[in-house]
Amino acid sequence: MGLDNCYTLNDGNEIPVIGFGTWQMPNDEHTAEIVEYAIKNGYRHIDTAATYGNEESVGEGIKNSGVSREELFVTTKLWNDSHGYELAKKAIDESLERMQLDYFDLYLIHWPNPLSVRDHWQEANAEAWRAMEEAQAEGKIKSIGVSNFMKRHLDALLETAKVTPAVNQILLNPSEMQPETVAANKEHNILSEAYSPLGTGKIFEIEELNELAEKYDKTPAQVVLRWSLQHGFLPLPKTSTFERVKENADIFDFELSDEDMKKINQFEGKAGRMDNPDEKGF
Ligand code: NDP
Repeated sequence: MGLDNCYTLNDGNEIPVIGFGTWQMPNDEHTAEIVEYAIKNGYRHIDTAATYGNEESVGEGIKNSGVSREELFVTTKLWNDSHGYELAKKAIDESLERMQLDYFDLYLIHWPNPLSVRDHWQEANAEAWRAMEEAQAEGKIKSIGVSNFMKRHLDALLETAKVTPAVNQILLNPSEMQPETVAANKEHNILSEAYSPLGTGKIFEIEELNELAEKYDKTPAQVVLRWSLQHGFLPLPKTSTFERVKENADIFDFELSDEDMKKINQFEGKAGRMDNPDEKGF
């Protein structure tokens, strides 16, 4: 078991079990270097988004890694200004161009109900999804999915979707386990990707994690990422720090006991919760 291990998605495609997150990384040389470094150190799965503004640098890092395209798994996401059929088609092509790629392994609707379409988000998602299904048929995208969708958003999409989403990328860590959404994902065989697996850094405020880390001779980050994997989630840790790139991937040589998994489940709420997408101002 290692970084090249994969889950099989509901469309038959394989997805490496850990992804390298890139939110809040600027569009600069350091980002290109850390992405290249991550790939050279075994990561095979990179997660970005149009709204992160760093698709060029992430693409640069991918190119500079020298690892062949087929060995890599690249995800990006449709931003809130492009929920519509023509707009989504254009957004896909623009992201491909920015990243200097011929195809994406995974393309996600980033947000279920942007403010600009909040009074007709169901229709806006259905139209964007239709464009994504077409792009998939054309080979521009291998797998299509969603992000930040709760059960009600999934149910609405499934009313018109020809292709079931392969992935739902949601906030998932010991402080926010989203049981209802995870259950809805499972019901449709949709993989739950865990974004902010370290709570964007807040998870380290949980004191008890240090004791567990000591017990397993691992770091708190490694314990939390291992917990995510053992739940069958796909964690997407982000780091801009070279030393942590390897640390966050070194989680395949130990196993948390059932008792400790349960203990970590009890950290619910201790390092922040998700915001309600219906109340977001974007
Ligand atoms: P994470 O939960 O991965 O936490 C990252 C933070 O933890 C950074 O401050 C980082 O610091 C720090 N950190 C990383 N590794 C360690 C370590 N080993 N020890 C101590 N500190 C560490 O944050 P994100 O919120 O960025 O989530 C991860 C990814 O998920 C994103 O980058 C993005 O790809 C995706 N995401 C998707 C969203 C969506 O709406 N679909 C929303 C949010 C995230 P430093 O970088 O300085 O090392």
